[in-house]
Amino acid sequence: MNNSSSPRKRIAIFGSTGSIGTQALEVIDKNRDKFSVDVLTCNGNDTLIVQQALQFQPNIVVVSNEQKYGRIKEALAHTDIKVFAGEKALEEVASLDVYDVMLAAIVGYAGLKPTLNAIRAGKTIALANKETLVVAGDIVMRLAYEKRVPIIPVDSEHSAIFQCLVGEIRNPIEKVILTASGGPFLGKKPNYLVNVKRDHALQHPNWTMGAKISVDSATLMNKGLEMIEAKWLFNLRSDQIDVLVHPQSIIHSMVQFEDGSIKAQLGLPDMKLPIQYALAFPQRLPNDFPRADFKRIRTLTFEEPDIKTFRNLALAIEALHKGGNLPCILNAANEIAVYAFLRNRIGFLDMTDVIEQTMQKVSFLQEPSLDDYLDSDAEARHYAADLIKL
Ligand code: NAD
Ligand code: MG
Repeated sequence: MNNSSSPRKRIAIFGSTGSIGTQALEVIDKNRDKFSVDVLTCNGNDTLIVQQALQFQPNIVVVSNEQKYGRIKEALAHTDIKVFAGEKALEEVASLDVYDVMLAAIVGYAGLKPTLNAIRAGKTIALANKETLVVAGDIVMRLAYEKRVPIIPVDSEHSAIFQCLVGEIRNPIEKVILTASGGPFLGKKPNYLVNVKRDHALQHPNWTMGAKISVDSATLMNKGLEMIEAKWLFNLRSDQIDVLVHPQSIIHSMVQFEDGSIKAQLGLPDMKLPIQYALAFPQRLPNDFPRADFKRIRTLTFEEPDIKTFRNLALAIEALHKGGNLPCILNAANEIAVYAFLRNRIGFLDMTDVIEQTMQKVSFLQEPSLDDYLDSDAEARHYAADLIKL
């Protein structure tokens, strides 16, 4: 039913030029009666954000890279769209009363501060940026609780868990089972991985994603980051979070309750579905996405993750269990290592060494403040970059 009497949700897409951002705009384009686009932001893809701005007519466009300001401003000069540039502008716009829901789709640590400001300003968060919770999950969730701000996951595994939990508010979780595709190197051993190059690592079998998360999926770091994300989103102990490799990516994750019953959410791997669910929650909107056909899929398989080979996952599990600022350190070192790998500066297996050494080097803090997290991030980046001689 087209409920034209309810006002449109005003959406701010932080990271609109990325894989999640562009798919979100596709979803919104099909549901213009439900959503308006009021803020678009990007790091530096001026051509694409100008195109998006002309199509969706937001109030505000922000570009983090200040050198791109002039071109965007000029291209939008004939419109009413306001254009801002720089990191500070990104943070400030997050607090403005020009939107209702932030789709947090910036990649990496850069998404943390705008998201915190959005929560402070009482905005609903549709969270794709998992690094925000990996870096400072306790602070982010506490703030969201204080401000009564819903954080609705976009990550497919967490969306699956969230969907399984609808209607189960009083029923404790026994454990969650995060499924993992296994990435492009499932079944491979270190003697193979040592020679893996950037372009091969970017070819994920089931999902098309941004470069950073594609590499994280290839190393299984992505699943480790997701375990930490799940801990904070669903208030779990670390021993309640399991990972199961499921190469078909049809089961997006599962929840086991205290009676032993397991609920799962299934579907074809398509990020538009969890994006749409998060934006429209609690509604489910009709769409024409392809449907899963079990007569064709026929087989779903499962196996243990190989954490001896994919040691990034073992490091993330260590950070999950130890807590404190260790996940923040892990994340910072990983961002530097992935950046270096994407520029062919280090090999695939070197990424693990960089992360491991950085985790050993940066001082451990059991109960960090926000400033401690920011300092740990900076220190870890610095140390990791030194190791690589960036
Ligand atoms: P992407 O690289 O395709 O896009 C990232 C976006 O962030 C771009 O708009 C870019 O301009 C912006 N950006 C990058 N660095 C920035 C900076 N320093 N300051 C401001 N903006 C910056 O990434 P993506 O694949 O869309 O992923 C975005 C987030 O969503 C990541 O945290 C990722 O883990 C998460 N996620 C992605 C997928 C997916 O399918 N792509 C699935 C689950 C979760
Ligand atoms: Mg995921």
